[in-house]
Amino acid sequence: MTRRIGVAGFLHETNTFAPSPARMGDFIQGGGYMPFARGADVIVRSRGINLGIAGAIAYAQEQGWEVVPVLWAGAIPSAPVEAAAYEAIAGEIVAGIRDAGPLDGVFLDLHGAMVAEHEDDGEGVLLSRVREAIGPRVPVAVALDLHGNITARMFEAADAMVGFRTYPHIDMADTGRRAAAVLGELMERPQPWFKAIRRLDYLIPIAWQCTSEEPAKGLYARTVAQERDGQVTSSSLFTGFPAADFPECGPVVVTYGRSETAVEAAADALHDAVLAAEPAFAGTSYEPDAGVRAAMEIARTATRPVIIADTQDNPGAGGDSDTTGMLRALVACGARAAALGCLFDPEAAKAAHAAGEGAQVTLALGGRSGVPGDAPFVGTFTVERLSDGNVVAPGPYYGGAHMRMGPSAALRIDDIRVVVVSHKAQMADRALYRMVGIEPERQAILVNKSSVHFRADFDPIAETILVCTAPGPMPLSPAVLAWKRLRPGIRLEPLGRPFSPAA
Ligand SMILES: [Zn+2]
Repeated sequence: MTRRIGVAGFLHETNTFAPSPARMGDFIQGGGYMPFARGADVIVRSRGINLGIAGAIAYAQEQGWEVVPVLWAGAIPSAPVEAAAYEAIAGEIVAGIRDAGPLDGVFLDLHGAMVAEHEDDGEGVLLSRVREAIGPRVPVAVALDLHGNITARMFEAADAMVGFRTYPHIDMADTGRRAAAVLGELMERPQPWFKAIRRLDYLIPIAWQCTSEEPAKGLYARTVAQERDGQVTSSSLFTGFPAADFPECGPVVVTYGRSETAVEAAADALHDAVLAAEPAFAGTSYEPDAGVRAAMEIARTATRPVIIADTQDNPGAGGDSDTTGMLRALVACGARAAALGCLFDPEAAKAAHAAGEGAQVTLALGGRSGVPGDAPFVGTFTVERLSDGNVVAPGPYYGGAHMRMGPSAALRIDDIRVVVVSHKAQMADRALYRMVGIEPERQAILVNKSSVHFRADFDPIAETILVCTAPGPMPLSPAVLAWKRLRPGIRLEPLGRPFSPAA
């Protein structure tokens, strides 16, 4: 019998401390994901790219299932999703699934850390509405980002939640495929699987969550190992997104399987391993000038670029990608053969396009997010190259996605080039430099507005990687954020001080 499944996606990683909300226009543009798609377009446009929905649809088609695509919408991380946008997208997903006719299962591609202006638990609310629309018997499987802040409501409403195992997220499509395979098993079963959830009591800075390094590497290897016995059918660790101020923010372990004992034991074991790893979630970081000086020193004898992660303005974590602290440090330290990207400033891009290649423009560049300690960088730049910002990003993170950065330019000051763009996206693909004529491999220093995702495409060309802390809206350590609503007792960083609500 041919199985018939409904599929939809709605992704947002919300930094409740970030400067700008996610509006409908941000979902339509798709910043860094694919643009908004409905119906058959979801299948056509996602084909072959590194997204959960792409892997799930590919798996479903291989199984000969009938796929009923509703919509897919994702926006770049930012402050909470505007209520109107949330309700419009969630409403359309729920209606589309309810009106799809008889379904054997539902696959949802979600992030897990979405907060809307009027709802803390974006995914939990959506999942419970989907559950209400289709009734208790139709299985719902969800692919989620490992940065998901998994809630009790999500755990309750979904039959299975399957998380990424890599950061940089090179397994988004693979995770969709795994979640679809889980859905296939659930559709054959009269009863749902047993499930277990455990919460960890400390927040993990995203820069130290990288899965190519310990302790994350070993912890994710453990999730794979837990599924080997066949009793535990799915094991996920969500290291969480530590910039969403609500009580369920933080790392979570979720396991599913055929035996209640095995599922509970696996959840306990993984929880205990993550707890034991707490001291190991740590690393070295630099102030901007010190970081640039260190990079220049290494570059003197290096054969490859030294890469600086401008982690606190990572647009993949809610930054506006327009802070200027690292640019200021590059100029002040006299860095040579350096490039920085992507700096989001549509006005500057427009001015560069109006002036033309080869022209000089005097600008107040970036610095508009209102971050304390940050300001526009005023200087005279040479417009080295213009671009319409349409680029294919073939590296392992974007996985061939068509990016639309809007009018873009390479602006040069001294021997420093800045990639200026009109839409925000994380510098996680070398093509975003090449788009404006900068060969990243030939630079001595690259400053990427990204925390970890850039490693997927830049590790192979990096001499070394330094993490710098220029002023930005996503602090390296969550402990410095002005938390108000976390659950009491959770440590604000590994081995850090426990949160207590203000009296
Ligand atoms: Zn993520």
